[in-house]
Amino acid sequence: MPIFTRADGRIDLKSLSLPEIEAALTGLGGERFRALQVYKWLWQRGVRSFDEMTNVAKVVRAKLEEHYYISFLEVVAVQKSIDGTHKFLWQTEDGHKIESVLIPDDERNTLCVSTQVGCAMACTFCLTGDLGLRRHLRPSEIANQPLQVREKLDATYRITNVVMMGMGEPLHNIDNLIPALEIYLGEQALNFSHRKVTVSTVGLVPQMQRLADALPVNLAVSLNATTEEQRRQVMPITRKYPMEELLAACRTLPLKATKRITFEYVMMAGFNDSMADAQRLAKLMRGIKSKVNLIPYNENPDRDIKRPPDAVVKAFQHHLVTHGIQASVRVTRGRDISAACGQLGKADPTKSTVEEEKIAAIRIRREGEGYDASRFAFDDIV
Ligand code: SF4
Repeated sequence: MPIFTRADGRIDLKSLSLPEIEAALTGLGGERFRALQVYKWLWQRGVRSFDEMTNVAKVVRAKLEEHYYISFLEVVAVQKSIDGTHKFLWQTEDGHKIESVLIPDDERNTLCVSTQVGCAMACTFCLTGDLGLRRHLRPSEIANQPLQVREKLDATYRITNVVMMGMGEPLHNIDNLIPALEIYLGEQALNFSHRKVTVSTVGLVPQMQRLADALPVNLAVSLNATTEEQRRQVMPITRKYPMEELLAACRTLPLKATKRITFEYVMMAGFNDSMADAQRLAKLMRGIKSKVNLIPYNENPDRDIKRPPDAVVKAFQHHLVTHGIQASVRVTRGRDISAACGQLGKADPTKSTVEEEKIAAIRIRREGEGYDASRFAFDDIV
């Protein structure tokens, strides 16, 4: 795991894997088998101090305290939507704000998790993209989100599903994402089933392959267009990985028999919601084990993009279904608290935070210069 050391020289114990904790304990004169207990204290009990690790010898606890610390996100605010959605605003140790969104419904409680501070992908319809990328989140920061949601609500609260669809492009941060996912899936850690964890991507082709080789989690691809030209207009990453290359990769990914790739399709009125788009999309899905999730755009004052009428969305879905494509329409949740898809990082309940000011600055710059997607470079993405 990438190891993180704080300014005081102490290491984030949650940045260590179980074998690394074993080695650390041995190095401190502790018993190797205690590592599993320590790991469970961290990820299952969510302790905040070494003193709470009552089955670890006092002397070892003192040594752990000397060399390590237990990292947590600071809770800045929790907002509750009229539809039951909760948005959690966290602050990282270095003062960045990130968000998680909990979406409860009758059958499941889904947590939408952030993987970066901001995002480099600059999808034109997404407010998070306005932030640009500040930094990648560490594995412990990605994994602390469900742990702390439970702590905040109720220790017995059951998060049933996790989607990596909050702030950031998860696969742009794959070096931290994979160790984080190991914590999510670890029986001795957060213990989520791989069937309940979904990673979303704009389509970073080599990283999709790397993820599929590493872990059997679900994959969601944010498609949002039916031609190269159309996709290039809203998703600058298409210049690096053309849609044709992306879909070819989707056809050959080594998926488990039970898995399908979810294609997310944000529907924008007059842009990608025509019947011609529906017909092209049905054709594009041929030969891919797929399902399509239609997401009617969440209108907001920062974008001149309209949500298609419900009848248009229904007709689009109907066309896909009648052509053998499994297609659902995502119900918008948490709009009143800016927790809906594409809105994260925009509205900070504490107001006038650093993030808000930077967003405002970016907006002013864009208004002054005009929006030019070509200024976003992807050279750091393999
Ligand atoms: S849609 Fe996702 S990948 Fe695109 S800018 Fe927003 S957060 Fe980043």
